[in-house]
Amino acid sequence: MELRGRRVTVMGLGRFGGGVGAVRFLVSRGALVTLTDLRSEAELADSLAQLDEFPPAKLRLGGHDERDFLDADLVVVNPAVPAESPFLELARRAGVPLTSEMGLFWQHHRGRVIGVTGSNGKSTTAALIHSILKAAGLRCRLGGNVGVSLLPEVDSSAADEWVVLELSSFQLEDLDRIRARPEIAVVSNFSPNHLDRHKTLEAYRSAKQAILRWQRPDDMAVLNADDPDIAAWPVNGRTMWFGGSRADGAGAFFVAADEREAVIRCERGEWRLPLAQLLPLAGPHNARNALAALAASASAGVNARAMEEGLKSYVPLPHRLQTVGEAGGRRFINDSLATTPESAICALESFSAPIVLLAGGYDKRVDLSAFAAAIARRAKAVALMGQTAPELWRLLCGGAAAPPLPARCCETFADAFAWANAQSSPGDVVLLSPGCASYDWFRDFRERGEMFRALAEARARGQTPLRTSGFPIGERVNRKGV
Ligand code: ADP
Repeated sequence: MELRGRRVTVMGLGRFGGGVGAVRFLVSRGALVTLTDLRSEAELADSLAQLDEFPPAKLRLGGHDERDFLDADLVVVNPAVPAESPFLELARRAGVPLTSEMGLFWQHHRGRVIGVTGSNGKSTTAALIHSILKAAGLRCRLGGNVGVSLLPEVDSSAADEWVVLELSSFQLEDLDRIRARPEIAVVSNFSPNHLDRHKTLEAYRSAKQAILRWQRPDDMAVLNADDPDIAAWPVNGRTMWFGGSRADGAGAFFVAADEREAVIRCERGEWRLPLAQLLPLAGPHNARNALAALAASASAGVNARAMEEGLKSYVPLPHRLQTVGEAGGRRFINDSLATTPESAICALESFSAPIVLLAGGYDKRVDLSAFAAAIARRAKAVALMGQTAPELWRLLCGGAAAPPLPARCCETFADAFAWANAQSSPGDVVLLSPGCASYDWFRDFRERGEMFRALAEARARGQTPLRTSGFPIGERVNRKGV
């Protein structure tokens, strides 16, 4: 779409600048931008300051006006805006197209796309693919839901470069509208999640399936062979599988049940890699993420040497099973990004040392019984936090008067840390892997993880980690989609 002279409404600037990239891009392309946000000018001061060089034609702050959604050629929606917003409904009915920052990027970049989605492991898989493509000497960028907007760089994109995009279900819902089609689409796994936003499992599944929906016969779907739900998803192009449950066909598989070695098979041949030796990441789930990344890179034409190099040189992302301190013989592990029960269960399976766990948080209305069972099985004590603490307590008790392990519902995060620390002994792992989102107590998972890190560092300095001052308990913004 030619943007010069077009009336474009950007809905949602955000206090943390979520809409800044879109406004700058649109203004620089000559669009007549109306920026609208529920927040006031004062509240948005930090984000507005980033627009000095690219001022929108009109500001409508402190609320929305119907006219901006009816008299527009395009509406660019911040992912934090709920799909059922009445203003979006107005635009839809008036035939005004809706898009997002990711949609704008998709329509204007020139590269070849590898899209990665799934319920868990998206960022890790996308970052692993990026590391392998880089090791192969290919031009590539990593972006999307993993945290970096690529829109500011769109003009420098080239036809021969790969763009590895982590795509949340919210972003995919939006990309579905423009029939976005990744050349290689990776689905890591699928489990019930974010039903607070998608309402039904079917809606969530359908949003995820958009990554495959518009693919053509030559495109590649890289799918989890161990996930029965995904095995039944409609595919329009070619397929490569990854996992342990099958050993034939194109894809990346474990050679034996111990999951230490991988075999990669594609039309160029077959080769083996000592996965456990190469991968600087703990946990069987990460070995699976690596298989997905190996299959995707095989599809992109990468050879075995680059795969080996890319895995070996991978730099782990923060807040995912990240060691943030050691003190008194304990290891403090920040897995704040484990916002689903499945992720936290994975974390519990990733250590042979005794685990004192910090669990619980914002209630996304998902079933926590498997998580409670894993806690009872693997943890030696658990500090329960946030909205889901009473439910986890109830599940742990399973009808008995008390849980089968030392447990406590904590009032604050610092309280949870202090209690967990007191329960731990030398040789233990103190693990923040909440299995729930953070919005009830924190702005986002990063703030929660940073607080854990600060408390662990204070503990390493010999300070009693009890003070919470300096950590504003934020509100629900800047969420990372899934
Ligand atoms: P996402 O981008 O989907 O949120 P990440 O790679 O950022 O996934 O990992 C988020 C959390 O999920 C981490 O706590 C990690 O331990 C866990 N995790 C990573 N990969 C998987 C997987 N394949 N299955 C289940 N949990 C996983």
